[in-house]
Amino acid sequence: MLTKISHIGIAVRTLDEAIPFYQETLSMTFKGIEEVGEYKVRVAFFQIGESKIELLEPTSKESFLVEFLDKNGPGIHHIAYEVEDVEAAIKKLEASGARMIDKIPRPGAHGARVAFIQPESSQGALTELCQMRPPF
Ligand code: ZN
Repeated sequence: MLTKISHIGIAVRTLDEAIPFYQETLSMTFKGIEEVGEYKVRVAFFQIGESKIELLEPTSKESFLVEFLDKNGPGIHHIAYEVEDVEAAIKKLEASGARMIDKIPRPGAHGARVAFIQPESSQGALTELCQMRPPF
């Protein structure tokens, strides 16, 4: 069902403040910035092997990230696994008793279709399923 770690999402207060450490100090490959309206965030991408690090900055007070940052400060927010078929993965998880935040996939960055699992079902780690392409 899961094919690889797609990315790790890290909550930051501002991309301007966070990017230099990843780009210059860690010398990671900067892949650009995208605004994801569905989640009210701006995302900076860094490639690391076949996975990515995504720095997430809130673009609105209503962004889910604001509450996270107020409570925890900057830090790891979620882990995302790539799946071939996000609908099939949701069905399988629900059939196994896992609770989904998203029962229907939502649009993510890069045209992906994503769905989050309730952290209570994944040992406290907010987990995202991420389908990059339609299933073959
Ligand atoms: Zn993500």
